Amino acid sequence: MIQVGVNGYGTIGKRVADAVAAQPDMVLRGVAKRSPNHEAESAVKREYDLYAADPDRTDEFEAVGLPPAGTLSDLLADVDVVVDCCPAGVGAQNRDIYDAHDVRVVFQGGEDATVADASFTARTAFETARDADAVRVVSCNSTGLARLLAPVAESFGVETARVTLIRRGGDPAQTDRGPINDIVPDPVGLPSHHGPDVNTVLPGVDVDTAALKAPVTAMHTHSVNVTLETTPTADEVRRLLADESRLFLIPEGAGIDGAGALKEYAMDLGRPRGDLWENCLWGESVHVSGRDLYLFQNVHQEADVVPENVDAIRAMATDTAAAESMATTDQALGVGL
Ligand code: NAD
Repeated sequence: MIQVGVNGYGTIGKRVADAVAAQPDMVLRGVAKRSPNHEAESAVKREYDLYAADPDRTDEFEAVGLPPAGTLSDLLADVDVVVDCCPAGVGAQNRDIYDAHDVRVVFQGGEDATVADASFTARTAFETARDADAVRVVSCNSTGLARLLAPVAESFGVETARVTLIRRGGDPAQTDRGPINDIVPDPVGLPSHHGPDVNTVLPGVDVDTAALKAPVTAMHTHSVNVTLETTPTADEVRRLLADESRLFLIPEGAGIDGAGALKEYAMDLGRPRGDLWENCLWGESVHVSGRDLYLFQNVHQEADVVPENVDAIRAMATDTAAAESMATTDQALGVGL
């Protein structure tokens, strides 16, 4: 059994912790948190061992009736792999403590690619994690684009992909984020960093990206145009994409017209936190004109990287093959719509 710890128990960390706890070959040894807020309380209610990330703040946990099982160092002494889910940039600051404990680490997409030996998505870069001491699961947007472009490139060839990303302004609980009444280019300078980030896990595929931020919280939307090297029919593209376990082709007539309906669907299915681990693509939007493919997809920013983190742990700590790891992860979580 792979012994796993999670450092940073927020939006991504709590989902990764649940996903690890659900795996047949992993043990969640505990979660480390900096502040004893409502998420710390919910970790304890889920019977996860709670550790204080900052040894100078253990008394704050005791003061609110959440005595920690120890400090981050104690947790790191007991694990094979730690998943760092701290805010962007904090992961890099933690690298020294992970190295001092000689534990392998999975970082998140808010970190620079240089934080780790390799960047990771299971579909495109599983083998890069073998023997690595540290990998970085790429961001929610990059994960969603790599999952889509990899099968398209393999089957039809990609001359250039051009993607406009309409990004959610913040996650639902991020009351300090915005915009609240505008749609703003972010960044204004083109292209955005997303294309090069996709290339860290899908090298050799030409991807140009532009990004805007919108006053929504549920999901990102991607408007995709790919100039292919061949001329498949739209049905051939749909069939290819429908075969990918982490792509959900929204059926025509389902009455799903946006992120709101997608989240409602996930909640009706009993998905934890209404999570959509799969890219959600509108089958009706798939259109081919000559060598140009067009489609819309949505990405649930809080959820799509979660199965990738699980696979990154398995890729680093075992010799399990990519397909077997992805199938194990998907079955344990219920990925696949
Ligand atoms: P978050 O703010 O929701 O959670 C971060 C957690 O880490 C909080 O509980 C915070 O208290 C805790 N923390 C802060 N400093 C810490 C420290 N020094 N040690 C331990 N814990 C500490 O952030 P998030 O949205 O979960 O993002 C985590 C990472 O995942 C970032 O790199 C982010 O870019 C990336 N990511 C986020 C999303 C998203 O949409 N939220 C999607 C994909 C990737």
